Amino acid sequence: MTGSQPTLVVAAALVDDLDAPTVLLSARRRTPASLAGRWEFPGGKVEPGETPEEALHRELREELGVAVGLGDEVPGPEDGVWRITPTHVLRLWLAEVVSGVPAPLVEHDELRWLPAGQWFDVPWLDADVPIVTAVVALTSAD
Ligand code: C5P
Repeated sequence: MTGSQPTLVVAAALVDDLDAPTVLLSARRRTPASLAGRWEFPGGKVEPGETPEEALHRELREELGVAVGLGDEVPGPEDGVWRITPTHVLRLWLAEVVSGVPAPLVEHDELRWLPAGQWFDVPWLDADVPIVTAVVALTSAD
C-alpha cells in the first residue's frame, strides 16, 4: 500500500439537538463477522465524484432512511482525520435528523439512542472509542 491514499470513510455523530445534545445514536454492525455485534457511528466510504458531505448524506439516507443537517466536524489527531484501520481514515460530523426516523435498513441490526452519561455503554468498534471521547469533549453532554 506504500504511496497509495487511504480510503476515506465519513460518519455522523447523530444527536437529538445540535445546540444542546443529550442523546447520541449508535448503530450495531451486522457485517463483517469480525465486526458484527460492535457499535459504530453510521456512515460509509466516499465514492468517486462525491464530496465527503455528499457521501455522508447519501450513506445516512441509504443506511438509516433519514435526512440530516450537519453540524461541526469533530477533527481527528492525524491531519484532522481519524485513522481507523491501516487503510482507512475517517472524518466525522455532528448531525441531527431533519426528516425520517432512523431505522437499521442495511448494515446494522440495531440502533440505540444513548442517553447522556451512557455514551460509552455499548461495545463500540475499537477505532470509534477515542472518537466518542472527542464527541463528548466537543458537546460536553455526557
Ligand atoms: O462501513 P465500511 O465497511 O465501509 O467501513 C470500512 C471500515 O472502516 C470497517 O471495516 C471498519 O473497520 C471501519 N469503520 C470504523 N468506524 C466506523 C465506520 C467504519 O472503524 N464508524
